[in-house]
Order: sequence, then C-alpha cells, then structure tokens
Amino acid sequence: MSRVYNFSAGPAVLPEEVLKEAADEMLDYKGSGMSVMEMSHRSKVYDNIIKEAEADLRELMNIPDNYKVLFLQGGASQQFAMIPMNLMKNKKAAYIITGQWAKKAWKEAQIYGDAVAVASSEDKTFSYIPDCSDLDIPEDADYVYICENNTIYGTKYKKLPNTKGHTLVADVSSCFLSEPVDVTKYGVIYGGVQKNIGPAGVVIVIIREDLITEDTLPGTPTMLKYKIHADADSLYNTPPAYGIYICGKVFKWLKKMGGLSVMKERNEEKAKILYDFLDQSKLFKGTVVKEDRSLMNVPFVTGNEELDAKFVKEAKEAGFENLKGHRTVGGMRASIYNAMPKEGVEKLVEFMREFEKNNA
Ligand code: PLP
Repeated sequence: MSRVYNFSAGPAVLPEEVLKEAADEMLDYKGSGMSVMEMSHRSKVYDNIIKEAEADLRELMNIPDNYKVLFLQGGASQQFAMIPMNLMKNKKAAYIITGQWAKKAWKEAQIYGDAVAVASSEDKTFSYIPDCSDLDIPEDADYVYICENNTIYGTKYKKLPNTKGHTLVADVSSCFLSEPVDVTKYGVIYGGVQKNIGPAGVVIVIIREDLITEDTLPGTPTMLKYKIHADADSLYNTPPAYGIYICGKVFKWLKKMGGLSVMKERNEEKAKILYDFLDQSKLFKGTVVKEDRSLMNVPFVTGNEELDAKFVKEAKEAGFENLKGHRTVGGMRASIYNAMPKEGVEKLVEFMREFEKNNA
C-alpha cells in the first residue's frame, strides 16, 4: 500500500487513523456482527453513534443549547435553496459575492425572493474579501449570507461582516472545524463535510432554534424544512448513516488532537510554510491578497499555462495528487485541510523548489 499526498479540494484527505479504525470495524462494529453500513438507523447501536457524533461536535465547537445540529443530505448546494425557503419571511436577503459558491447561492435565492448583492469581489477575480464594515443592507432583509472560505479562490473572511443586526448565514464547507468559531455570531452555519470532516453525502447545519419555524415558503417540500429534521433529531428519514459515523470518528480525532485551537495553530503553521515559499519564489505566485489568504486552499500560478500543466503532471508523478486549480480558474491549488500532515506541505514545497530550479 502506498498513499499519495492528496491536495484535493474535496472530497479530500481524511486522517489515516480514522480510515484504519473504520476498516477494522468494517465487518463487525463493536460486537454487533455487522458493518455500520448494514445497520438500521433506528437501532440502539446507531442511535449511540449519531448522538455521540452530535455531542462531540457540540463540545468541539462549543455550540450553545439554543442551536440545533442537523445531519442532512443534498450537499452544500441543497442549502442554497433550503436557506431561502426556510428563512426568507420578508422575501428579502443580502448576499456577499466572494466566489462561485456564494454566487450560486445568490442565484438560487433569487428563485424565492429578492436576493440583493450588497458587496462583491468579482471585479478582481474574487482575489480578495470586500470591505464589509458598512454595507448597505436592506432594513427588512431576513439574513446576510456569506461563503466564509472560498474554496476555488483561496480567500477567507478574517473578520465577519457587520450585519447591522441581521441574521448571519455562513457556508463554511471548506473551513469547517479548521479553527475555533463563535457560534453565537451566526444564525446558521452549514457545510458539506467532504473537505474537512468526512465522506461526501453529509451536510451539517447548525441553526439557532428561533429560525426553525413552520412558516416556510409555500410549496417547500417536507424534506427541505429544517423543522422536520430538527423535530426528528436528523432521523426523519434514513440519514447518510455511514457518513455520519465517519464524521463522528473525525470529531473524536479532533478532540484527541487537542481541539480547534490546536488545529488552528497547526493549520497556520502548515499554510505559512507554503505562503512563505510563494512569497519569495521567482516562479510561483499566490493569487490572493495577503490579508485575506485562506489557511485551507492555496491557489498559485506560474503565469505560464504550459508550465502550470507541466508542474501538475510532474507533481502527480512524484506523488502529489490533485494540484490542478479549479477548472474555471486554471493554475494550481493546494488544499491543505486538517488531515494534511505538515510533512505533506514540506515535501510539496521541496518539490516546488526543485521544479523552480529546473525550469528557471
Ligand atoms: N460551498 C463551498 C464553499 C464549496 O467549496 C462547495 C464544493 O466544493 C460547495 C458549496 C458545494 O458543495 P456540494 O458539492 O456538497 O453541493
């Protein structure tokens, strides 16, 4: 067996320890005589798995009691619709456009009401986070929506927007559990787990209880109502049971590692290795303004498409996978989520240094 260094933006690298443990339990989960994959989601054994996963996540993120934790399906993209369907009471919301995912969410919300773009960084290919200290937010907006870490462009909010008292809704798919957050600042925090937490197929929604109401937009399907899932503790229908089990294992791994403050330190250390190299390189350049750089997704270019392609090809041959930038922006991108070891980043930088020498 040989594992590569996987820099994929998602689905992405998971802690080896977690994968090994899951493999050990594959045929017989804790004496149940079956795999978690084969288990009824109504069984006592599974009930313990999902309850423990929720309790561990609550502990990790310090989630207050007046927030519900929902394990849902449909990916982050389904939340682009669920959010307006459940929250747009006044049929108005403010969106900050910092990349494709924010834009997709904004477009989806336009189906349901007046989704107003109050700021955007599209003028400079989303290479920065716009100033959000004094936005022109409509008084009657039901919420302000952000994508907190922009996976494709590699930007991250270092300070949350001033929502002027409006509910903040954040897509944290690509920075989930990468550092501590103050949950009380948000009405809704959600993310697909396939980057930092687990296998694709699970989306976690952390939502303040007062936002969960019967009063959804007319025509909202039962499965897209937060209340249905909240009232049933995420077991209204068959949940993505195996995926939740793996998420639970990653929560335990994070606790063992020392929690989110420790993860933040580790992530800062890893990102610094790569950014420091980019800042002094004569060949490679980071594409994002320094103050808004993501700790998770690091895009870079050589400025020459052919050389970019050569780099990606040679890197792959050397065991560094998935370094090609998103298909819409080109160049390269190294996603260095929680489970990427520091050694992976060090080796990548070593490889880049060598490539630079050979292609000067
Ligand atoms: N939001 C962000 C920030 C993402 O990076 C992605 C996917 O990469 C999505 C949303 C879409 O997620 P999904 O494919 O789970 O719908």
